[in-house]
Amino acid sequence: MFPPLEIRGGRGSYQTIMQTYKIAVLAGDGIGPEVMTEAVKVLKNVEKLESIRFEFEEALVGGAAYEAHKKPLPESTLKLAQDADSVLLGAVGGPKWEPLDYSVRPERALLGLRSELGLFANLRPALVFPALVDASTLKREVIEGIDLMVVRELTGGIYFGKPRGVTTNADGSQVGVNTLTYATYEIERIARVAFELARKRRKKVTSIDKANVLETTELWRQVVTRIHEAHYRDIELSHMYVDNCAMQLIRNPKQFDVLLTDNLFGDILSDAAAMLTGSIGMLASASLNETAKGMYEPVHGSAPDIAGQGKANPIATILSAAMMLDYSFGERKSAMRIYKAVEEVLKKGIRTGDIFTAGNQLVSTSQMGDAVVKELNV
Ligand code: NAD
Repeated sequence: MFPPLEIRGGRGSYQTIMQTYKIAVLAGDGIGPEVMTEAVKVLKNVEKLESIRFEFEEALVGGAAYEAHKKPLPESTLKLAQDADSVLLGAVGGPKWEPLDYSVRPERALLGLRSELGLFANLRPALVFPALVDASTLKREVIEGIDLMVVRELTGGIYFGKPRGVTTNADGSQVGVNTLTYATYEIERIARVAFELARKRRKKVTSIDKANVLETTELWRQVVTRIHEAHYRDIELSHMYVDNCAMQLIRNPKQFDVLLTDNLFGDILSDAAAMLTGSIGMLASASLNETAKGMYEPVHGSAPDIAGQGKANPIATILSAAMMLDYSFGERKSAMRIYKAVEEVLKKGIRTGDIFTAGNQLVSTSQMGDAVVKELNV
């Protein structure tokens, strides 16, 4: 059975009958709208099966928003995200907007949403569905049974540090600068998320840094150690350099339970962890702040190479919706219905192209959504 997402047993405290949740639906660009359609389809079916109602409100984000408003994150979209109970996001970006200035590139919308909503903790579970073991590029014995969670700091570090930019010297040569900064409180709060999560899992945290070279990450290591000693002695803590971690993820990923990382290292390591599971099209994520609100999105991007062709795997977005039910709304039963439905679909050999292997049934994006809906109703 698909293991539950083990954090806080749901973040909400809304257990009243027929609770209504307002969801900001930000489909974005490329395959974003295609995979979002399937996730909403699944949620609408959950409504029929459980005492739960959703109010879906759509808004433009990323390149689509730039086309309409000349901004990747218009005020109206941000307001919707702020007012909703949670945000479900597809993906943003694409070659069309690559020539734009960084300040209006579609990807800036993600950074804007994360910082405006204070979403400092990004959780990316990497789980291998038994039915998909053979879809991974790694050997069965290396990946069978993987169950790790990457906890990535999301609102600090080099993606936000100042000074930043490219300047031109008097002699015409250029210099690019980005700055890696972390304040103690930023490290403390993300470390707490990782330790709390580990307490509900296998009680192991591996904190990732480059403390042999970067002073900021030396501070990271000291603060994580201090928080551990003060509050979480029941958790096994180890520290690992990021380069070694990249190697260990491929060599022996089962050694990991919770991986605690900064923003940049987490970005890279979570994609590596993603590939362990077979396809980036399977991986969900949650971005959380200190309230019940969260932003839920697939790990993948807008996949322009397959956009508009019905080839995208919608499972990452469907599982992101399930995480939303679990973490933000405290509706674990509904979330589990979705996980189990996905697991059953995979057991039956129903596959989009990214996870297809010989002998299985190749389906389109919408057929995959339909298959999950069918299993929900079994
Ligand atoms: P990508 O994740 O979009 O695609 C990488 C590869 O994985 C492609 O071959 C793609 O076809 C495949 N893939 C991705 N999602 C899939 C799915 N659901 N089903 C089947 N195959 C899938 O990464 P990229 O190509 O580096 O980036 C494309 C665009 O997306 C860029 O503009 C980038 O900036 C943006 N991006 C956005 C996000 C986001 O919105 N969170 C994340 C990453 C990249």
